Amino acid sequence: MNYWIKIALTSISVALFVLQAGAQTASTALVSGKWFDGKGFKTRTMYSVDGRFVSKRPKNVGKTIDLAGLWVIPPLAEAHNHSIATGVTDWDKKAVSDFIRDGVYYVKIQGNLPISAEDARSLGVNNGSGPDVIFSQGAITASGGHPIGLIENVLLKRGYFPGYTKDTLKDHRYFTIDSEADLEKKWPAIIEMKRDFLKVMLWAADEHDMRAASPKFMFQRALDPKLLPLIVSRSHAAGLRVSAHVTTAADFRIAVESGVDEISHLPYLGSEPISAADAKLAAKKGIVVVTTAKLITWIPKNALPDSERPGVEKAQIANLKMLLDNKVKVAIGSDNTSDTSVAEIEYLRGLNVFNDRTLLKMWTETTPRAIFPDRKIGKLANGYEASFLALEADPLADLMNVKKIKYRFKKGLLLEPAPAGK
Ligand SMILES: [Zn+2]
Repeated sequence: MNYWIKIALTSISVALFVLQAGAQTASTALVSGKWFDGKGFKTRTMYSVDGRFVSKRPKNVGKTIDLAGLWVIPPLAEAHNHSIATGVTDWDKKAVSDFIRDGVYYVKIQGNLPISAEDARSLGVNNGSGPDVIFSQGAITASGGHPIGLIENVLLKRGYFPGYTKDTLKDHRYFTIDSEADLEKKWPAIIEMKRDFLKVMLWAADEHDMRAASPKFMFQRALDPKLLPLIVSRSHAAGLRVSAHVTTAADFRIAVESGVDEISHLPYLGSEPISAADAKLAAKKGIVVVTTAKLITWIPKNALPDSERPGVEKAQIANLKMLLDNKVKVAIGSDNTSDTSVAEIEYLRGLNVFNDRTLLKMWTETTPRAIFPDRKIGKLANGYEASFLALEADPLADLMNVKKIKYRFKKGLLLEPAPAGK
């Protein structure tokens, strides 16, 4: 080949390579669009540079996305689910795509069949275009405690956890700790199992000793509350935040006093509401409370008899008001494997405690930051991760307009093709 043609071809391929490399890191102009600022929507142009928002026009703009006529909000988040990592790949993959379909980019899995980071990525999680997910792996409970009954009598029988038996799920999908000696013995295995946070179980913990001794309360009991502060301090020393399952206002109080970082439910048993003193202490300690309010509509009758439901719903409304009045951080979570948090929000709206703006902020700001406290997310501003949903209708006119997603943009990437809407 002629020398000069060779040189020319080489420069063309170098130029092509530069173009390609440039396309990956090029900045994107996000023109027009009405952007949520925490209060309302303002029309402006933003830029995404290396996956971060920039408000000033950068030197080179590789691509332009026209957001005219669209409402731009930060992505949604789900702080309590168990839909990913059941060990059944098809179910898990469906859950992953449902989250992206619904614009839920940040997910907290509060108890799962332990999974490696590599296996999680192969399901489509934490890979850039899928949801960003943290896993608690197995939960910490007591012998005969929640959620062992659910795991052994429901989930295992339905085909979750393929290849596992009751015996191999013990001290794997859940750990039992009944004493300080157990804690000492099992702690290394708990830590060795790479987990993003620690999930601990309480169940009417003020009645712990009575429930632990009575077969009547099999699976409706959990950790000895005396062990909880010890578990929390070991967990914090290992750099793990602690999320506590609670059933009653007494559990809430014990969890707050024991120094957990998050309470993963509103109390859903008993009609005693959370006290003002406990709410104030939770706010002071920066503890996050996850709603899981819709849960009372599908919880089985043996755990919540019909006669107790009206009282529980009343307490739920009082509890949400108490948390709101005392400025406790409230995160949105469904605890429902067939939900992504959208149905939870619909239920919360029906309780008429929060207005749509407050719910939108809880869903797009408080919840993402509760899941990933070290990331700059939840705000459409300079320096924050360039992730958003562009909606075809105003979510402040009707919050359920969050279902009308036109574009999903994540850390500088337009997620295409957009998954089919609901
Ligand atoms: Zn749960």
